Amino acid sequence: MLSVSRRVQSLKPSVTIAFMNRAKAMQRAGKDVLSFAAGEPDFDTPQTIKDAAIKALLAGQTKYMPTFGDPDTRAVLAKKLTDENGIPNCTADHISISAGGKHSLFVACHVLLDDSNSGGPGYVQPEVLIPVPAWVSYVPIAQLAGGKVIEIPTTVDTGFKASAEQIRKAITPRTRLLILNSPSNPCGTMYTPEELKAIGRVVAEAAATIAPDITVLSDELYEKIIYGGIPHFSIGSMPEIAERTITLNGLSKAYGMTGWRIGYTGSSGAFGKKFTEAMATYQGQMSTNITSFTYPAIRAAITQCASEVETMRQAFAARAEVINARLAKLPGIKNAKATGAFYAFPDVSAHFGKTSKGGRKIDSAMSMCEALLEENLVAFVPGEDFGGCGKNHVRISFACSEQQIHKGMDRFGEFLAGLT
Ligand code: GLU
Repeated sequence: MLSVSRRVQSLKPSVTIAFMNRAKAMQRAGKDVLSFAAGEPDFDTPQTIKDAAIKALLAGQTKYMPTFGDPDTRAVLAKKLTDENGIPNCTADHISISAGGKHSLFVACHVLLDDSNSGGPGYVQPEVLIPVPAWVSYVPIAQLAGGKVIEIPTTVDTGFKASAEQIRKAITPRTRLLILNSPSNPCGTMYTPEELKAIGRVVAEAAATIAPDITVLSDELYEKIIYGGIPHFSIGSMPEIAERTITLNGLSKAYGMTGWRIGYTGSSGAFGKKFTEAMATYQGQMSTNITSFTYPAIRAAITQCASEVETMRQAFAARAEVINARLAKLPGIKNAKATGAFYAFPDVSAHFGKTSKGGRKIDSAMSMCEALLEENLVAFVPGEDFGGCGKNHVRISFACSEQQIHKGMDRFGEFLAGLT
């Protein structure tokens, strides 16, 4: 009889992964399932990136490496963050490289937060502020690391964005971490530079007064996938909070590299150096370096693939137009236009209380997604685990062809029309 740790017993499985795997299993069983579940671009990794990895593999770059890889690769990422994102005082020593954004987030949370065991005498549980709906892994990972999550609610009417004022009100002397994500997974919306600057000023003010330990983790995985006219802004570029901000990024989404598992963090100055050393200590006891022959591929992606990234961005922009238009025509669906990433996150709650053609009671996003998958073979992700108003929403990942989007929206429309 296995006694699973209480830590894992109380850990919620990832609903994005669950629905993604379910759709794949049904497809393998021969069912014509259209999956909008995974946050995964349908584009293949650009050839230049593959070639760099193949060359390194054939040349025998297959041994252990330093925890964060070779200095050249870290320097390329530091230069990217300096030139493109304006992060000040960011050098190779300020870069950690991990097996994906989720891995970086996991290590960062364990570096920043104490639980009651590690906290020592007088332990006060650190508070983690998360505007919700938010990606399903933030809350569980912050909690695993010991954080007390304080959700900041947002709504579809404000594009799912927390205001600087809401954040100011949520900060206490116990606030340790604020997690921001723009463009947003699951909402597909973006903060404007002005909104982020206002939030940055609130953080700076709080740091100088009631919350000296506050840090910001800015998840910018989708920074390259923007098409709504709002420019991407890195909050870590603000001098007043640069030395308390961690910029999180990775190669999965922008370069069609989800399966490679490559994420990284960048940070600034003395704060960033200390943070990155702590990341190395933790990752050094966890997994050490990522696959050795992928480091040259990281350099190739960052320095040689701008045109491929632009081609993919344009495709996402066209797909966003299609899905924004199709959702606007469906009855009882309230949607905030996607302007970044590749997600639509419509409010479907007007249909709660109805019954599907197959006799399923639709009383939640989960029951809607179950019925839609089983009866109309379309996989969305139910919004409950994204937090806040997410329980009234479903997430539709439109990282697939326009043809599939049309077909999926046809089926979704038929499903809604069949509700009684
Ligand atoms: N980040 C992607 C998503 O939200 C991949 C799955 C996951 O790690 O959650 O679908």
